[in-house]
Amino acid sequence: MKEFAERRQAISVAIVPVGALEEHGSHLPLGLDSFHAWELAKAAGDLIPCFVAPLVFYGLCRSTSDHPGTISVSGQTLQMLLQDIGMELHRQGVRGVCFVTGHAGGTHGARMVEAGEHLLAHTSLEVAVVSVMDLLQEAGTFLQCAADSHAGEMETSLALALWPEMVKGTAPEAYPDFPGPILTREKLKHWPSGVWGNPTLASADKGHRLLAAEARQLAAIVEQLTQRIEEKEKLFFNPS
Ligand SMILES: [Zn+2]
Repeated sequence: MKEFAERRQAISVAIVPVGALEEHGSHLPLGLDSFHAWELAKAAGDLIPCFVAPLVFYGLCRSTSDHPGTISVSGQTLQMLLQDIGMELHRQGVRGVCFVTGHAGGTHGARMVEAGEHLLAHTSLEVAVVSVMDLLQEAGTFLQCAADSHAGEMETSLALALWPEMVKGTAPEAYPDFPGPILTREKLKHWPSGVWGNPTLASADKGHRLLAAEARQLAAIVEQLTQRIEEKEKLFFNPS
């Protein structure tokens, strides 16, 4: 308690890691996106002064909703939870919030942006919404699978590096064949394996490199938020 009160004088930004509990092929743990967001937030926190808030373990999962083990929350619940966390951080003197999600679903991300916009409209917080998929695209220029997205080369590499005891071998390269703009009830039929990419190309070394590169990018975003806050406060205290 005392430590938080002292540190918030000097630290203006909190990273809020957000994950999901969803199927990740036959070889990776259901909580991979949450573990990923948490490790990434901590790694960025080692690079730049910031608060790292506790992990939000559940997210909104659509494509994997029929796979065994996926436990999703509604978009409304996710948005309200993130808004409430943001409002509370603001009330406690935090001046910037960086939501970072380990789950890259489009509807999930859209709700995170909605929560961020709400915080912009109702508080003085500076806000960033970051998806690991955006970070990984920049971090993973050395990867071999061009269309890798879920339980493939990237996520299997991260798991081999960070939680090797939870990896059960590997899985074959696979991709979904969802019918474009047509929404389907038969999600398992269009994506039976739950793999989107090529897990056989994964290695622990790639995972370590990915996490380090992602952490540098996330720290740079926190740095940008911090600068925006400092500039704003300079203007506020020295109007001219
Ligand atoms: Zn994932």
